[in-house]
Amino acid sequence: MHTKNTILVVDDEEMIKRKLVDVIAGEYDVMEASNGKEALELLAEHLNEIAVIVLDLVMPVMDGFAFMEEFRKHEEYENIPVIVATSNEDEYSEKRCLEAGVWDFVMKPYNPVLLQFRIKNAVEKSRMIMAERDSVTGLYSKYKFYRSVRQMLSEASDQTFAFIRFDIDRFKMINNFYGIKEGDKVLKSIASELRRIETVFDDFIYGRLENDVFAVCMPFKEENIDLLANALQINMKKVNKDYNIKVSCGVYVIKDYNMDVSEMYDRAFLAAKNCKGKFVQSVAYYDESMIENMRQEQFIINEVNKALEEEQFEVYLQPKINLVTDRSYGAEALVRWIHPQRGMISPGEFIPIYERNGIIGRLDYYMWSHVCKLLRKWLDEGKNPNPISVNVSRVNIYNPRLVEIFKKLITEYQIPAHLLNLELTESAFMEDQNLVMTTMSKLHKLGFKIMMDDFGSGYSSLNVLKDMEVDYLKVDMKFLQQDQGFNGKGEKVLTSVIRMAKWLHLPSIVEGVETMEQVDFLKCIGCEYAQGYYYAKPMPIADYEAFIAHEEEMGAKIGANDNTGIVGELWNTRSSVSLFFDMLDVPVAIYEYRKDKLELLRSNSKYDTVIGLEGELDESERDRRMEEERLILQEAFEKLVVGDFCEPMEYEISDDIWYRLTAKMVGKREDTMIMMVTYNDISNYK
Ligand code: C2E
Ligand code: CA
Ligand code: CA
Repeated sequence: MHTKNTILVVDDEEMIKRKLVDVIAGEYDVMEASNGKEALELLAEHLNEIAVIVLDLVMPVMDGFAFMEEFRKHEEYENIPVIVATSNEDEYSEKRCLEAGVWDFVMKPYNPVLLQFRIKNAVEKSRMIMAERDSVTGLYSKYKFYRSVRQMLSEASDQTFAFIRFDIDRFKMINNFYGIKEGDKVLKSIASELRRIETVFDDFIYGRLENDVFAVCMPFKEENIDLLANALQINMKKVNKDYNIKVSCGVYVIKDYNMDVSEMYDRAFLAAKNCKGKFVQSVAYYDESMIENMRQEQFIINEVNKALEEEQFEVYLQPKINLVTDRSYGAEALVRWIHPQRGMISPGEFIPIYERNGIIGRLDYYMWSHVCKLLRKWLDEGKNPNPISVNVSRVNIYNPRLVEIFKKLITEYQIPAHLLNLELTESAFMEDQNLVMTTMSKLHKLGFKIMMDDFGSGYSSLNVLKDMEVDYLKVDMKFLQQDQGFNGKGEKVLTSVIRMAKWLHLPSIVEGVETMEQVDFLKCIGCEYAQGYYYAKPMPIADYEAFIAHEEEMGAKIGANDNTGIVGELWNTRSSVSLFFDMLDVPVAIYEYRKDKLELLRSNSKYDTVIGLEGELDESERDRRMEEERLILQEAFEKLVVGDFCEPMEYEISDDIWYRLTAKMVGKREDTMIMMVTYNDISNYK
């Protein structure tokens, strides 16, 4: 094997070829071809000498891609590494090359040291592959295993075969905790178990492909596969009782015998991913949807650069509703991908993929800067926008430049930090609490408000909350729908979550609110904000602007915010504010006012005294006094509806007893208003 010491250089440019030969001639023999066709001819003749191919992509007669296509058809070339020399930095061609089976890349013009290093690496790697046995377990190596599978399938008569790939969950952990020796012990025991199983079946080929990855090819029968998986699992228990090892098997039932073995492997691998992280399941079968998912995933990854460049991602806004006033207070920015061919793609389809691949950092930044730009636009138009919150994905929290990035953004767009709220998902708080805390306190110093997103979905406890400087809690409604239905345990949990959040002076936003019952319930337990389809779905910016304009048109500007908390508490008859309300020395009442109809919702006893409702009154007398009161209030309320506020009005209730009435709108939804009325005795000043 060591006689294979020839590098085949395929390039049409003489100059480049000369330079390349200069670089490598000292250590290797060099063979030259000017295009793919010549290279194939040389390969056929000198198969046993050629160790590595250095391939140009752009050539006349037959280019690099066409060469690879032909090259791949020959199984005997499988162990010859191809290094592509390219001046084309384009990622797409790099990807195409990888798909075509290229091992490595070097950039033109060549860096001699780097090139030599790459070639040396490739030669070594191919030698390793050429070795038929794995040195740790003595099993077939990947190369030998693949060849044997090929051989077995070509001789197979009418049997159906299965390709099984398996590995050990968290094998790295065993190596790290117990040492490499212990890791090797585990691998060896798998090998001996496989040797034992081999004696049971007729056609049974197996090998160790890499690290903890093994593969088996055998006639397909479901019970035999279960047998294999069980045997492996039971064997694992014997190796070491201290830790639980789980084996995950992916099975591809071979349909097409001409398929590349590496492709069979890929399918079995896709299937294996399906039982990763699941406690019970240790066998999963490949089905077509998996490859479809993988293609979809590839598509989503491949398209991202273009999508970012062409601004295919759009900011959608979902209003957050203040539950006391029933008016919106800001919104959450949610990404939507409007793909030119595929239409709208929802974030559930691409965010998890981007999170796995680290691409999410760029998408997050895209969203943040677009939101900043939008806020700038609103400010320039003289609007007085409420805060917009953006999502900060988990990986970003560990970005050491995060604080700097936000600082730069608000400086660049000249927007006050309090207008940009940051939603951090709960699970991010659990990992490295110290880091998260320092990051948050820096963000706070800059004036940002932070929301803990998805509270209740993971493992966090309120205990953690008290140490964390968050400003708002976002709780997901969905998490209580899952278990017990609306009247179940979840309701109690939500109630206590909101209550405890109040103790920590943390306002809560409940997300995913879809029904009126849920809204009523949330109001009852004193939740401050809600977000959900009941009020509004996430919508394009223009729609959101129309939504806000409409809201402003419907309701006069109201200074509700200073009262929101108190009025919210009032609905809850047992709350401390409610008790306080009753004890107040000032007469106070809350009315609902709608199209000239007035209804008393709540009043304290002082109030009842002032309007003469205390004591035992007969029905008609009571109605008469209420009617009097209504007339007075009607006048006040009408002023409130027309203008933004109502001058206090003075009334002589009875001889020489003067009261000043103050009415204030504390909430509004469509044409229904919530009014708070107080009376002050001003007789002494008259
Ligand atoms: P999230 O941050 O928890 O966002 C809330 C999700 O709930 C949104 O889904 C929203 O459309 C949906 N939703 C709102 N109200 C209701 C309702 O009443 N019923 C139901 N069933 N769903 C409701 P969406 O927009 O599909 O986003 C899903 C997730 O994707 C988000 O969950 C967030 O984790 C992530 N995401 C969305 N946009 C971005 C973004 O710009 N950056 C990052 N990093 N993640 C984002
Ligand atoms: Ca969110
Ligand atoms: Ca959420």
